Amino acid sequence: MKTFLQPVAFLVFSTLTLGAVCSCTTSPNQQEKASGFEVIQTNDIFDKGQPAPSEWFTGPVNLNVLMQPTETMQYSIGDVKFEPGSRTLWHTHPVEQVLLVTDGNGYYQERDKPAVKLTKGDVFVIPADVEHWHGAAPDSPFTHIAITNYKEGSNVTWLSPVTEDEYGMALN
Ligand code: MN
Repeated sequence: MKTFLQPVAFLVFSTLTLGAVCSCTTSPNQQEKASGFEVIQTNDIFDKGQPAPSEWFTGPVNLNVLMQPTETMQYSIGDVKFEPGSRTLWHTHPVEQVLLVTDGNGYYQERDKPAVKLTKGDVFVIPADVEHWHGAAPDSPFTHIAITNYKEGSNVTWLSPVTEDEYGMALN
Protein backbone atom coordinates (compact mmCIF):
# COMPACT_ATOMS: atom_id res chain seq x y z
CA MET A 1 0.00 0.00 0.00
CA LYS A 2 1.25 3.41 -0.88
CA THR A 3 0.11 6.80 0.19
CA PHE A 4 -0.40 9.58 -2.30
CA LEU A 5 2.17 12.30 -1.71
CA GLN A 6 4.13 10.12 0.61
CA PRO A 7 7.18 11.91 1.97
CA VAL A 8 9.61 11.24 -0.90
CA ALA A 9 7.08 11.99 -3.62
CA PHE A 10 5.84 14.95 -1.63
CA LEU A 11 9.36 16.33 -1.57
CA VAL A 12 9.78 15.73 -5.28
CA PHE A 13 6.54 17.45 -6.17
CA SER A 14 7.16 20.23 -3.69
CA THR A 15 10.51 20.80 -5.34
CA LEU A 16 8.96 20.74 -8.79
CA THR A 17 6.24 23.13 -7.74
CA LEU A 18 8.66 25.46 -6.08
CA GLY A 19 10.93 25.18 -9.09
CA ALA A 20 8.07 26.16 -11.35
CA VAL A 21 7.34 29.14 -9.17
CA CYS A 22 10.97 30.19 -9.02
CA SER A 23 11.48 29.77 -12.76
CA CYS A 24 8.63 32.22 -13.29
CA THR A 25 10.55 35.13 -11.81
CA THR A 26 11.66 36.26 -15.25
CA SER A 27 8.49 35.15 -16.99
CA PRO A 28 5.87 37.64 -18.12
CA ASN A 29 3.36 35.13 -16.76
CA GLN A 30 4.22 35.98 -13.22
CA GLN A 31 2.42 38.95 -11.89
CA GLU A 32 2.77 40.56 -8.55
CA LYS A 33 -0.26 42.58 -7.68
CA ALA A 34 -0.21 45.75 -5.65
CA SER A 35 -1.37 43.81 -2.62
CA GLY A 36 1.70 41.62 -2.83
CA PHE A 37 -0.49 38.68 -3.82
CA GLU A 38 1.53 36.41 -6.06
CA VAL A 39 -0.04 34.54 -8.96
CA ILE A 40 1.40 31.07 -8.67
CA GLN A 41 0.47 29.87 -12.12
CA THR A 42 -1.22 31.63 -15.02
CA ASN A 43 -1.41 29.01 -17.76
CA ASP A 44 -4.66 29.13 -19.71
CA ILE A 45 -5.22 25.48 -19.03
CA PHE A 46 -2.63 23.85 -16.82
CA ASP A 47 0.47 22.51 -18.43
CA LYS A 48 1.08 18.82 -18.47
CA GLY A 49 3.32 18.62 -15.42
CA GLN A 50 5.50 15.57 -14.95
CA PRO A 51 5.14 11.85 -15.66
CA ALA A 52 3.17 10.40 -12.76
CA PRO A 53 4.67 7.59 -10.66
CA SER A 54 4.10 4.20 -12.25
CA GLU A 55 3.34 2.83 -8.78
CA TRP A 56 0.03 4.73 -8.91
CA PHE A 57 -1.03 4.32 -12.55
CA THR A 58 -1.14 1.85 -15.42
CA GLY A 59 -0.06 3.44 -18.70
CA PRO A 60 1.28 6.93 -19.37
CA VAL A 61 -0.17 9.60 -17.10
CA ASN A 62 1.05 13.12 -16.39
CA LEU A 63 0.48 14.92 -13.12
CA ASN A 64 0.65 18.62 -12.42
CA VAL A 65 0.33 19.29 -8.71
CA LEU A 66 -1.44 22.65 -8.66
CA MET A 67 -1.81 23.06 -4.91
CA GLN A 68 -0.33 21.28 -1.95
CA PRO A 69 -2.10 21.06 1.39
CA THR A 70 -1.39 23.72 3.95
CA GLU A 71 -2.08 23.88 7.66
CA THR A 72 -5.55 25.25 6.99
CA MET A 73 -6.33 23.67 3.57
CA GLN A 74 -6.23 19.93 4.03
CA TYR A 75 -6.32 18.89 0.38
CA SER A 76 -4.19 18.71 -2.72
CA ILE A 77 -5.31 19.77 -6.18
CA GLY A 78 -3.79 17.90 -9.09
CA ASP A 79 -4.35 18.10 -12.84
CA VAL A 80 -4.11 14.54 -14.12
CA LYS A 81 -3.76 13.77 -17.83
CA PHE A 82 -4.30 10.15 -18.89
CA GLU A 83 -3.35 8.86 -22.31
CA PRO A 84 -5.92 6.51 -23.92
CA GLY A 85 -6.27 3.31 -21.90
CA SER A 86 -4.33 4.65 -18.90
CA ARG A 87 -5.89 4.46 -15.45
CA THR A 88 -5.19 4.61 -11.74
CA LEU A 89 -4.66 1.54 -9.62
CA TRP A 90 -7.55 0.46 -7.45
CA HIS A 91 -7.45 2.78 -4.44
CA THR A 92 -9.39 4.37 -1.62
CA HIS A 93 -9.49 7.86 -0.12
CA PRO A 94 -10.02 8.53 3.60
CA VAL A 95 -12.25 11.52 2.75
CA GLU A 96 -14.37 12.28 -0.34
CA GLN A 97 -12.45 13.12 -3.53
CA VAL A 98 -13.79 15.58 -6.12
CA LEU A 99 -13.04 15.08 -9.82
CA LEU A 100 -13.57 17.90 -12.33
CA VAL A 101 -13.34 16.45 -15.82
CA THR A 102 -11.79 19.01 -18.16
CA ASP A 103 -11.10 16.98 -21.29
CA GLY A 104 -11.78 13.72 -23.05
CA ASN A 105 -13.66 10.59 -22.08
CA GLY A 106 -13.03 8.20 -19.26
CA TYR A 107 -14.46 5.88 -16.66
CA TYR A 108 -14.97 5.64 -12.93
CA GLN A 109 -15.68 2.31 -11.31
CA GLU A 110 -16.30 1.12 -7.78
CA ARG A 111 -15.45 -2.48 -6.89
CA ASP A 112 -18.26 -4.87 -7.89
CA LYS A 113 -20.27 -2.12 -9.59
CA PRO A 114 -20.68 -1.15 -13.26
CA ALA A 115 -18.29 1.50 -14.54
CA VAL A 116 -19.62 5.02 -15.04
CA LYS A 117 -18.66 7.01 -18.13
CA LEU A 118 -17.15 10.42 -17.49
CA THR A 119 -16.78 13.21 -19.99
CA LYS A 120 -15.64 16.82 -20.16
CA GLY A 121 -17.69 18.98 -17.82
CA ASP A 122 -18.57 16.25 -15.35
CA VAL A 123 -18.14 17.00 -11.67
CA PHE A 124 -17.99 13.90 -9.58
CA VAL A 125 -17.69 13.20 -5.86
CA ILE A 126 -16.12 9.89 -4.87
CA PRO A 127 -17.17 8.62 -1.44
CA ALA A 128 -14.71 8.02 1.35
CA ASP A 129 -13.33 4.54 1.92
CA VAL A 130 -14.74 3.08 -1.31
CA GLU A 131 -12.39 1.02 -3.49
CA HIS A 132 -12.38 2.48 -7.01
CA TRP A 133 -10.36 3.51 -10.05
CA HIS A 134 -10.60 6.27 -12.64
CA GLY A 135 -8.98 6.60 -16.04
CA ALA A 136 -9.23 7.12 -19.76
CA ALA A 137 -11.37 5.32 -22.30
CA PRO A 138 -9.32 3.12 -24.65
CA ASP A 139 -9.82 5.50 -27.57
CA SER A 140 -9.62 8.89 -25.85
CA PRO A 141 -7.29 10.90 -23.69
CA PHE A 142 -8.84 12.00 -20.43
CA THR A 143 -8.01 14.87 -18.09
CA HIS A 144 -9.42 15.60 -14.68
CA ILE A 145 -8.59 17.90 -11.85
CA ALA A 146 -8.60 15.94 -8.59
CA ILE A 147 -9.26 17.62 -5.26
CA THR A 148 -8.09 15.07 -2.76
CA ASN A 149 -8.67 15.60 0.94
CA TYR A 150 -6.32 14.55 3.67
CA LYS A 151 -7.13 12.83 6.93
CA GLU A 152 -4.41 12.24 9.47
CA GLY A 153 -1.69 12.95 6.90
CA SER A 154 -2.95 10.61 4.18
CA ASN A 155 -5.19 11.20 1.17
CA VAL A 156 -5.05 7.89 -0.67
CA THR A 157 -4.27 4.22 -0.18
CA TRP A 158 -3.07 2.50 -3.34
CA LEU A 159 -4.10 -1.12 -3.87
CA SER A 160 -3.68 -3.43 -6.87
CA PRO A 161 -3.53 -2.55 -10.59
CA VAL A 162 -6.71 -2.63 -12.66
CA THR A 163 -5.94 -5.66 -14.81
CA GLU A 164 -6.54 -5.77 -18.56
CA ASP A 165 -9.46 -8.13 -17.88
CA GLU A 166 -10.98 -5.81 -15.28
CA TYR A 167 -10.50 -2.82 -17.56
CA GLY A 168 -12.01 -4.64 -20.55
CA MET A 169 -15.02 -5.78 -18.54
CA ALA A 170 -15.62 -2.25 -17.29
CA LEU A 171 -16.10 -1.08 -20.86
CA ASN A 172 -18.90 -3.58 -21.64
MN1 MN B 1 -9.68 8.39 -6.59
